[in-house]
Amino acid sequence: MPSPVELLTEAKSYAALLSEIRRELHQIPEFALNLPQTQARILSSIEGLGEIFLGKSLSSIALLIRGENPGPTVLLRADMDALSVTEETGEPFSSTNGFMHACGHDLHMAAGIGAAHLLATHKAELKGNVLIWFQPGEEGHHGADVMIEEGFLDLSGERPIAAYGLHVFTSLPIGAIASKAGAMMASAGDLLVSFQGSGGHGSMPWLSKDPITPMVEAISALQVMLNKRFDQFDPVILNVGWISAGDQATTNVIPDSASFGATVRTFSQRNTDLLHTLVPEMIHSIAKSYGLTATVEFSVPTKVLMNDPGAIARVERISQELVGPGYQTMQVPIAGGEDFASIVAEVPGAFVFVGACPPEIDYQTAPTNHSSKARFDDSVLPLCSSLLAALAFDHLG
Ligand SMILES: [Zn+2]
Repeated sequence: MPSPVELLTEAKSYAALLSEIRRELHQIPEFALNLPQTQARILSSIEGLGEIFLGKSLSSIALLIRGENPGPTVLLRADMDALSVTEETGEPFSSTNGFMHACGHDLHMAAGIGAAHLLATHKAELKGNVLIWFQPGEEGHHGADVMIEEGFLDLSGERPIAAYGLHVFTSLPIGAIASKAGAMMASAGDLLVSFQGSGGHGSMPWLSKDPITPMVEAISALQVMLNKRFDQFDPVILNVGWISAGDQATTNVIPDSASFGATVRTFSQRNTDLLHTLVPEMIHSIAKSYGLTATVEFSVPTKVLMNDPGAIARVERISQELVGPGYQTMQVPIAGGEDFASIVAEVPGAFVFVGACPPEIDYQTAPTNHSSKARFDDSVLPLCSSLLAALAFDHLG
């Protein structure tokens, strides 16, 4: 069985090819669940490496590499979708179609392709199977859940024993690897609230039901509630991103309704459940005290991404072999959401951050993932591919 360092050396011999694939994918970014060009580009790079399965209601691909010896299955996952962002990096391979791989998913696909080549080359030494998912719709479109619903976890005939995924990050130095056991990323979802009053003349608010005052009160009360009703050692983030009421053309009209939307982040199911109980209770009681009604809607949130301690122990050991002191244990989770959480809710596994900030930029001030100016250095691809392949080998070697 090849060691992680041997896999890295081997992956470096594909470095130019992996960068080329990544740059081609970078120029054809596609949004959400339907990514036909991206799917076609990946298929052309994994031809002959194993059995291919395509999604029914989304452009997903699963590649099943069967080892020459029987054994369990390990799942590796790369996400595929881009963001609705107009690129401003100035890279010679910039996207020009109004979408952008501003979150580095182009690197994830290239890393997955590299891992597939490493594993297929060594399938004689593989005791079991590796299932590699190329997954659309990570950016809030629940692509992982759709793939699970379409039966993609069980394609080898049995449930994988472990699952791994990685994410490149501009806020880490190139080649650094970081993760943690337990909660690593937040459950992320939306809250939409609307107060229905009845409009009238601004000079006589007692004859109307002004919806703006209870809305403002509710926005403040929500922040206080986070402090008084939730465990301060299990954070909840609730940030109002928009409010809407009235008409800027006039000040003397009371509108019929007022509404706001917020992003909500939690790190435990307990707090998600508690929010879903306490927020409607509070909003309805404020509305009632003003004599009006309100509606409260939560979107289906991503799950909290929980890394399995056993999987993290493997990540730490292999990362230290690959990058020595470049492996860091994260002290706290990050508040971003990630639908790999749905996969590790079914299969024990781990998600890993890999630094991809170009060395000429200070990673502490570099434009972050999702910025129109975010630049990712694809010389990190051999490391990403070998890390994924080494994790699979560690279970199946
Ligand atoms: Zn991402």
